Amino acid sequence: MTDRKEQLASNLAQVEARIAAACASAGREREEVTLIVVTKTYPAGDVRLLAELGVRHVAENKDQDAAPKAAACADLSLNWHFVGQLQTNKARSVASYADVVQSVDRAKLVTALSAGAVRAGRELDCLIQVALDAESGERGERGGVAPDGIEELAAEVAGAPGLRLGGLMTVAPLAGPYAGRQRAAFERLMEFSSSLRVAHPAANMVSAGMSADLEHAVAAGATHVRVGTAVLGVRPGLG
Ligand SMILES: *Cc1c(COP(=O)(O)O)cnc(C)c1O
Repeated sequence: MTDRKEQLASNLAQVEARIAAACASAGREREEVTLIVVTKTYPAGDVRLLAELGVRHVAENKDQDAAPKAAACADLSLNWHFVGQLQTNKARSVASYADVVQSVDRAKLVTALSAGAVRAGRELDCLIQVALDAESGERGERGGVAPDGIEELAAEVAGAPGLRLGGLMTVAPLAGPYAGRQRAAFERLMEFSSSLRVAHPAANMVSAGMSADLEHAVAAGATHVRVGTAVLGVRPGLG
């Protein structure tokens, strides 16, 4: 094995052990939680090594990086998740390679993704990104719809051709009432997920938790954790 592959294997093993331990203490089966490795800022070669090590789900947050990476890795049959704030004019591109868009936070984006999916002849799973710190009618600083906008947006996704409503996603807020309270934040997201599933029983994905707080997410009931740094290393610069 190359040094890089060994490093990724060892990091993956540590993350896997953390997820397994968190599942065990929450009384959950390991299979209930899907690991998504966030490969943003890292090259397609790393994605290939991760696939060789058994990773099936990867995530990116910028279309201009994700599109060529997904194309370079098209032979690997990975599941590509888009997790970044998404401009409407990038929706068509994202709809051509993403399997899941986790950052749906406004009606205009739903329309654009739907058009892109139909055009590409693809079905996209969409998660509503919830900004737990946003007030009614606002979007959060890091994207996301305010909690009282979930229901309306969910109905738009559910009714849009080419899109499937997958569930909810959040990023633990840095400010506001949930700052530093990841566990409480993720439990709140689970409550919104329960409400959502009354009208949309199949929308059972709950994406929460990153390198620093995945244990809180698993404890709260997340079905998907998004881990970058703990697998690939600290990203140089912003990202
Ligand atoms: C970068 C990113 C992650 C991964 O964060 P780490 O702290 O590196 O694990 C998860 N979710 C989103 C939306 C991200 O942008």
